[in-house]
Amino acid sequence: MMNTSCYQQLFKNIDPLNSLVLTPNKRLAARIHQEYARYQKQTVWQTPAILPLDTWLENCWQLLVTQGQTNGYLLLNNQQTQLIWQRLIKEDCTENLLNLNATCQQVNNAWQLLQQWQLDPSDPRLALTLDHRLFLKWVENYQQICLDNKYLDQASLSQWLSQSFNNLTLNPPSHIVLVSFTELRPDIDYLMTQLKNLACKINEWQPKIINLSKTTLSLPDKMEEITIVAKWAKTIHQQHPQSQIACIFQNITQDRQLIEQAFYETFGIDQQINNDLPFALSSGTRFVTIPIIHAALNCLQLKTKLIAFEKIKQFLYSPFFIAKEEELFQQVLFVSILQQTEQATFYTNQLFFHLKKFNAELCIHNALQVFLNEPIPNLQLPSQWAEYFSKLLQMVGWPGQRSLTSSEYQACQRWLRLLNELALLDTVSEPLTYSEALQLLTELAVDTIFQAESSQSHIQILGLLEAVGMTFDYIWVTGLDSKSWPPLANPHPLIPIALQRELNMPHCSAERELVFCQRLTEQLLTTCQHFIASYAEQDKEIILQKSPLLKDLPLSQLESLLPTEIKSIKRPLIEYFIDEQAPQVTADEKIKGGTGLLKRQAACPFRAFAEYRLLAKPIENYALGIDAKTKGKLIHKALELLWKQLNSQARLLTLTETKQNNLLYAVIEQTFQSINIPTQNYALISLEKTRLHKLLTEWLSYERKRPAFEVIATEKWQSVKLNELTLKVQVDRIDQTRQGSMILLDYKTGKTSINDWFSQRPNEPQLPLYTLVCSGPITAMAFAQLKADEIRFKGITLTTEGLPDCDLPEKIKDCLPNWENQLQLWRQTLLQLADDFIAGKALVDPKNPRETCQQCHLSSLCRVHETINID
Ligand code: SF4
Repeated sequence: MMNTSCYQQLFKNIDPLNSLVLTPNKRLAARIHQEYARYQKQTVWQTPAILPLDTWLENCWQLLVTQGQTNGYLLLNNQQTQLIWQRLIKEDCTENLLNLNATCQQVNNAWQLLQQWQLDPSDPRLALTLDHRLFLKWVENYQQICLDNKYLDQASLSQWLSQSFNNLTLNPPSHIVLVSFTELRPDIDYLMTQLKNLACKINEWQPKIINLSKTTLSLPDKMEEITIVAKWAKTIHQQHPQSQIACIFQNITQDRQLIEQAFYETFGIDQQINNDLPFALSSGTRFVTIPIIHAALNCLQLKTKLIAFEKIKQFLYSPFFIAKEEELFQQVLFVSILQQTEQATFYTNQLFFHLKKFNAELCIHNALQVFLNEPIPNLQLPSQWAEYFSKLLQMVGWPGQRSLTSSEYQACQRWLRLLNELALLDTVSEPLTYSEALQLLTELAVDTIFQAESSQSHIQILGLLEAVGMTFDYIWVTGLDSKSWPPLANPHPLIPIALQRELNMPHCSAERELVFCQRLTEQLLTTCQHFIASYAEQDKEIILQKSPLLKDLPLSQLESLLPTEIKSIKRPLIEYFIDEQAPQVTADEKIKGGTGLLKRQAACPFRAFAEYRLLAKPIENYALGIDAKTKGKLIHKALELLWKQLNSQARLLTLTETKQNNLLYAVIEQTFQSINIPTQNYALISLEKTRLHKLLTEWLSYERKRPAFEVIATEKWQSVKLNELTLKVQVDRIDQTRQGSMILLDYKTGKTSINDWFSQRPNEPQLPLYTLVCSGPITAMAFAQLKADEIRFKGITLTTEGLPDCDLPEKIKDCLPNWENQLQLWRQTLLQLADDFIAGKALVDPKNPRETCQQCHLSSLCRVHETINID
């Protein structure tokens, strides 16, 4: 159990009625309150004022407001300040900034630094470069806006309070204790000096604990480091349940997901349902990423002219809206109907048409229609939009009908505060449109860090700065390698570096980072009994060393340092059972497929099994615009229609340029009418028609030059029997030469290679398969490559009069020189693939893991990551 007597020294030196204890953060203030309660012997006691510094400053302002001493000024919150910067910068920039929000944040940070370091914006040292001068111009405008409207921002608050204490508008406290401040900003230092001059007694205090052990440890990589810390925390907690344990992570925000996953796994807790955790993670997540909030914002985005299919799908599948469990199947069915339209976006009336046609009267569908029919007001103030958004969400039954988890409930409460924050922007905002207001609300949600409160826990997972000043029995700090501790200097880009260095501003130089980190390391070492610092030996290709700041700490081995349980946890005994054999295909099992089936079987037997027997097909994501798949369909269709009219090269050669153009325009129009285009954007469609026209023109001029031919089949369906497996294949095109032999063609718009036609696992088995269904003698077979930068045939020709740009069999690597033997070999390869499929061969065996798995959607089903490195 931790020795908390260190806090007693603090409590002995404060007077509950007259002392004010200030801390750098909320967490430490709450901890001191707890310790103070534990320190009391009586049942009732006077609680001293123990506050985070920022809260105290705001309380002082509120006191001035109640006394009527603010001269009509309004204290802005951070969102209001940010909005003023946004409007000001947007108006000033004639060209659009790439990321307005990020620029505003940088500018606001630089302004805060000026205020905190009490720098006058007219100081000539601030105006070195064009960027600095632009920043100063914005500052001047900002100050004018604040002056005209009587605004005071948080960055200027301490200066105002200094004056108020000085002219005795505010009574200074008689005693202040500053607890665990690693350093004081100049504006706060100035405020404290003013108070000292007004007879306020000021002390600084840091908790100190006698350190019993300290050591460092190196671990192979970051992931191992995080996992071992989680296991260490669990073991220490089991051995000493009352101990206070801190697991401190350098990059807690960035690594939050990995850390969470490691702790949940180690403690064997289900992340989704458990509310009562043995550990507390301090770092929050962006509010916008919390599923219940993401669903609300996604829903509000449905009220646009064109609604993206993805957004409708997310809305209908979400558990956070009105829906009955028994209607779930119908909802999935409706989504698949929408998907079959292959439209990436829908107008509201199109969506209503599909809802009406589906005619299922689902409560979510009814709610959606009411929601979409609700008229949108024209221009309103943010507070009116806040009310309107609430009303819309009520219509669709947000946040759903199931009981919320504690964290979801807290997120809903925070959402109400977010709407309130939006409403508060009335003071600094003009009336907005729906999309502007929604954009503002989304930005607020992006900028808000949400952390659900958890019950008191003995294991705290913290960031470095959050841990400062807190006392623990055990501390483990990770990530202390020479590259990160101290980190590289990172001066602010909008303030001249020389000036930042002169004034010793945060992150201005390597020396400053070194001193700051030294101080922080010493503070951590004196606030725990047992201290472990660790670092990863490698970060991707970079080999890392121990931080020089830990040079006095002995380096230990994991084996000597940690309890034996951890070592055994580290190398768990896992028994593997490989199940690679599916049941054989029975006579009653209807297998529907074509060349794709053999292609999948060759690429990875498990993929063929999953897609053609388990029917594990992906739900396609439609991108905005015309995707590659649709472009491929358009080319195939246009060429089919074209050759149905032309029939032969002889006919093509009779066409003048104008006639050919007219024919192409007509064919393209017909093509677009017969294929579903997933966009309503006419500019895009017209662009695609032009592109298609150009490609086909180039292709026809290539076809004009080859030896004479007739087209005898286009997009022709045929059945092919491979032992027990019958496939339906569609041959893109069959030409006939003057001599009566056949040429098999397969149109390709992507990159192709014929090299692997000859392997046992061909990537593109369609042309070898077509050889089995072709009735006449084959003289050539090729991919017709239709790419803007590559117009040509790629394949095999048996005579020089066959196809241009194709090779004779003897010139192709791996192709048998005797054509009959090659045909026979292909037959055997294809039969083998078909037999394997029928026999249920379902091994997870990607042909070329990196490429094959990258184009496959099944990795979570086959769990290939567990056995093969595919990254
Ligand atoms: S992800 Fe790779 S291993 Fe898994 S099914 Fe697809 S291709 Fe096979």
